[in-house]
Amino acid sequence: MLTISNYVKAKTLEEAYELNQARSSRVMGGMMWMRLGNAKVKTIIDLSGLGLDQIEESDNVIKIGAMCTLRQLEECQALKEMYGDGIAEAVCHIVGVQFRNQATVGGSIYGRFGFSDVLTAFLALDTFVELYDGGTIRLSEFVKQKPDKDILLSVIVRKSKRSFRYESIRQTQTDFPVIACSVVNGIVHGQETWYFSVGARPMKAALLEKQWEIPKDASEEVIAEYARQAAAEFTYGTNMRGSAQYRRHLAEVLIRREISSILAEGK
Ligand SMILES: Cc1cc2nc3c(=O)[nH]c(=O)nc-3n(C[C@H](O)[C@H](O)[C@H](O)COP(=O)(O)OP(=O)(O)OC[C@H]3O[C@@H](n4cnc5c(N)ncnc54)[C@H](O)[C@@H]3O)c2cc1C
Repeated sequence: MLTISNYVKAKTLEEAYELNQARSSRVMGGMMWMRLGNAKVKTIIDLSGLGLDQIEESDNVIKIGAMCTLRQLEECQALKEMYGDGIAEAVCHIVGVQFRNQATVGGSIYGRFGFSDVLTAFLALDTFVELYDGGTIRLSEFVKQKPDKDILLSVIVRKSKRSFRYESIRQTQTDFPVIACSVVNGIVHGQETWYFSVGARPMKAALLEKQWEIPKDASEEVIAEYARQAAAEFTYGTNMRGSAQYRRHLAEVLIRREISSILAEGK
């Protein structure tokens, strides 16, 4: 059971950060995950009064406050216009609408959960995280760091002309994913570049970048070979939802479908 001694609604980010430096303090997002744990928390720090619940769009970026809910992501018009239905697809299987109205982007990214659809989706895009103490760093770098006592303020997606696809396989519609894959394609520094992010392996999402020039009219066999190569570069593990071998097979299938879909769009 989770036990909490003090609740503080932080008035400033500085106050939240200072309070969080104690070993027994915790920042709260939507509490959807934390409430299932067994921790003894001395001070729980609520960030909900700090204006971190907005999605802001500028010419170059879409900035998602840490206290935005997964439902806000799902309904965000700016993300839809830029990257199609991929982000909504990544979150729409997470439990149900009421749940997604509470679970936050900050909790989802900060937790670096192996099963995270949210992490898998953003990792393949040109994404940064803004930390109170650690500054703004690439999400791909943040993913590799161990959780510490910093506070995640926002997730920043740089706008660029990239195609984005997201797919997952689940044993039932709202279960954790057995595997989750994002594929992104665009011209980066003048070169055609593909990004592959595979999560729920069951380890946390990892990113692969390839400068591949796949012809728009590539045959299914050629696409399948690229997908095989991409899927083979990730490691997979076994748990109650599937074996490593099964996951690798599923990753290959999803990546093939996503590459095909992106190429079809460009024809
Ligand atoms: C039954 C169930 C099923 C789920 N299924 C899926 C699924 O299929 N796919 C998926 O992707 N996710 C799934 N999730 C995870 C869910 O989407 C959220 O990621 C999770 O609940 C954490 O978000 P939260 O806002 O509830 O964070 P909390 O539970 O409040 O916090 C989680 C952790 O993050 C820390 N934290 C929160 N916000 C910040 C911040 N701003 N800065 C620093 N640290 C912070 C907290 O201290 C805590 O350690 C599931 C969760 C549950 C309970």
